[in-house]
This record gives sequence, structure tokens and C-alpha cells, in this order.
Amino acid sequence: LTDKLTNAMRHLRGTAKLSEENMAEALKEVRAALLSADVHFKVARAFIERVKEKCVGQDVLKTVTPGQQIIKIINDELTALLGEGSTELSSKKPLKIMMVGLQGGGKTTTSAKLAKSLKKDGYKPHLVACDIYRPAAIDQLETVAGQIGVPCFAKRGTPDVPAIGEEGLREALAAGDDLIIFDTAGRLQIDEQLIDEIKELKRRVNPDEVLLVVDGAIGQEAVNVAKTFNEAVQLTGIVMTKLDGDARGGAALSMKEITEVPIKFAGTGEKLDDFDVFHPDRMASRILGMGDVVSLVEKAQETIDEKDAANMAERMMSGDFNFEDMLKQFRQIKKLGSMSSIMGMLPGMGKMAGNMGMDDKAEKQMKRSEAIILSMTPKERQKPQLLNSSRRTRIARGSGVKLAEVNQLIKQHMQMKKMMKKMQGGGKMGKGNMKKM
Ligand code: GDP
Ligand code: MG
Repeated sequence: LTDKLTNAMRHLRGTAKLSEENMAEALKEVRAALLSADVHFKVARAFIERVKEKCVGQDVLKTVTPGQQIIKIINDELTALLGEGSTELSSKKPLKIMMVGLQGGGKTTTSAKLAKSLKKDGYKPHLVACDIYRPAAIDQLETVAGQIGVPCFAKRGTPDVPAIGEEGLREALAAGDDLIIFDTAGRLQIDEQLIDEIKELKRRVNPDEVLLVVDGAIGQEAVNVAKTFNEAVQLTGIVMTKLDGDARGGAALSMKEITEVPIKFAGTGEKLDDFDVFHPDRMASRILGMGDVVSLVEKAQETIDEKDAANMAERMMSGDFNFEDMLKQFRQIKKLGSMSSIMGMLPGMGKMAGNMGMDDKAEKQMKRSEAIILSMTPKERQKPQLLNSSRRTRIARGSGVKLAEVNQLIKQHMQMKKMMKKMQGGGKMGKGNMKKM
């Protein structure tokens, strides 16, 4: 058991700072994670470089590895970056929103989702069909408009999209509607004619919001798409759709980094209710795919109250180590033990689990030791010298163990105390001394 204590103590005491060296391994993992989430490689590199600079020299939490710590920091940075800017729409009334993006990204569906959601907030939506290239596109918008009980302006047989937009706007305003959503056409790839058309439409209807709607699975192409649309029509927001799919959504990071346009909404399914404001924390852990490590570090932050540990170390150094302290120590070790089992499940984190591992036997024994201490009165715990043989017999009976086991624990406590005194006498309390414990 003292071995375990030694280990635990080393972790309690082991302060480390993040450095190029101890971060290297984790950063490699992070880079791989970002790339496999389809973050653009240049974006991934720039992001990691930036976070790295921020990290060097930071203290590492005493119970986690530098690698785990850095993943948590990266996760927090990623969340902060993705969450920059507001998800709020302009508060102008009437509110004019233009949807742009590639074909199949989800513009038409999202137009209806947005209308439905804002209708609940008291808006009177009016959809305007500005995708005239596929006859089915107009039908599709009319269908979803019908499903949410919202009027839809459409004009078949004319190719003049900006004129259609203007007319739709006039009609919507005349009807007293105050939310006008322009659903535009997309192409499989960005082309000049399309860009010219939405530029002109924008000039003519002067929208308050220009939302780029992108499929969450878009991948590397995201950089180019976001950049081109932003330069052409100055995006005010991004909507990521199909987040109900498998895509890790690295495009969110790419687009945010390139355009600095806030990501405002998320599409989470084909139904018109599958729509939500964008949650940067969820997106971050999806992109990084290391939510386990992140929650592990968070757990460690809670588990080891640093002050508690410092207090205990101080008491131990002063040679005043009683059974209360021992009990506290057992409990901290127990927490570390259950953490080690989590860590064992994490890829690449097994090393640490090995260090702190607690087998069943040790855990059982610790439970018995705890029971013995709990059978002592508070006074006895604070003043172990009170423990004469009649008290020991009572404690053994109370905790359901043999008298010999009580004696054993008391002996163990004495030994620990003696060792601590010795170390204190030795003056320096270096790592070397701790190891001998
Ligand atoms: P547009 O070409 O940009 O107008 O895209 P559409 O709105 O027509 O959507 C293309 C396809 O993606 C349709 O089959 C939609 O049902 C589907 N879709 C749109 N948004 C989502 C979403 O958030 N999740 C899922 N699973 N499918 C979506
Ligand atoms: Mg469409």
C-alpha cells in the first residue's frame, strides 16, 4: 500500500510546466484529429501553432499528464474560437435574410426551418423563391412553406432573379410580413455567374443577414467556399447543416478561421424542427473527438482540491499526521484509482493508468482500512496515542475486522508518520526522498 501512496503523493506533488517537449506527442495527436475531422491542413497548422505558444510555460494540473492538459486547453481554445461572435440575428424589422451556398447544402430546408423558428418568436415570415434554375426547386420551397403555414412568393418563367427578389420583397411588405427570407440557387461548384447573380440580388433587396448554408461534411473545400462567398456578399453568419450525420465538421473551424464570420445555426436533421443555435462546445468536442480526455481533465480538476492537497502536505511535513489525514489520503487515492480505470480506456493514455493503477485487492484493503478509521472516535483519530488495547478491541468489533488488522493499520500509520518526520529532519523534501517512502 505504501507504494501506492508514494505514487499518489508523487502525482500530488509533481508540478510540471508545459514545454515544447512534453507537448509534442499530444500536439501530434491533436493535429491528426483535426485533419481527420477534415479541418483544412493550413488552418490546423496555424491553429495549433497559436495554441502552442499560449501553452508553453503553463502549469500542469497535478493529477494529469501534460498531454491531457494540452488537449483540454486546445478544446477550450477551439470552443472559444468557434463561439466568437453572436448567434443572434439582426434585430431590424422588417428583417431580410438571404440564404446562399452550394447546391444541396440545405438552403431551402434551412429557409423553412428558420422561418418556423422565428415565427414562434412572433415574426411574420414570407419566403421568396430565388432559385429558378430547377423547376423542382420552386416546388420544394412552396411545399415546405405550406408545411409551416407561411406564404411563399414565386414567379415562374422569368430568368431575372434580382427582379424576382425585388418583387417578392414588395409583395411581402405589402402583406405586412416582417421576415423575408430569400432562398437562392446553388451550384455544385462556385461559378462566376452564380456569384454575380447573388451580388446583384443583394444590391437590390439589401438584406440584413446573409447566411452561408454549408453541409457539415463539406471538408477541405470549405475554405474556398467560405472565402469566395464572403468576399462576394459579405456574410453575416454561417449555418452548418447535417450535423446529425457522421461528419466531424472540421469545416466549422476552417470557415471560422478564414472568414471570422460567426457560426449562428446548426441543422440537425431533415425535419423542419431539427434546427438549433450553434453550440461551440459541442462542435469543438466533435471536431477534436477527444471528449473523454477533456472530461477526464475536468474531473481531475474537481477531484483534487489543490488546497486540500497542499494543506495535507504541510501537515505531513510538520510531523502532525493523524488518522483524519490518513483517511483523507485514502479517499484521494481512491478517487485517483477510479480515474485510472478511465484513463486505461483512453488510447495513448495507458502509461499514466499504469502508474496509478489500483487493483481490486488494494482497493478492498483500503476499504477495510477506511472502515477501521471510521470506527474510531474523532478524538482517537486526532490523537492516535489514545488507542490502548481496549479501544483497539472496540474498534475491531465496530469495523468487523480482526484485532490484528487494527494493530496493523496503527503500525502502518506510525511508520508513515515516522518517515515523514525523518524527511522533515533531512531538510530537503525532494522527489528522491519521496521515492523512498
Ligand atoms: P439546397 O440545395 O441548398 O436548397 O439544399 P436543400 O434544402 O434542398 O437540402 C438538400 C438535402 O439535404 C435535402 O434532402 C434535405 O432534406 C437535406 N438536409 C438539409 N438539412 C439537413 C440536415 O440538417 N440534416 C439532414 N440529415 N439532412 C438535411
Ligand atoms: Mg434549394
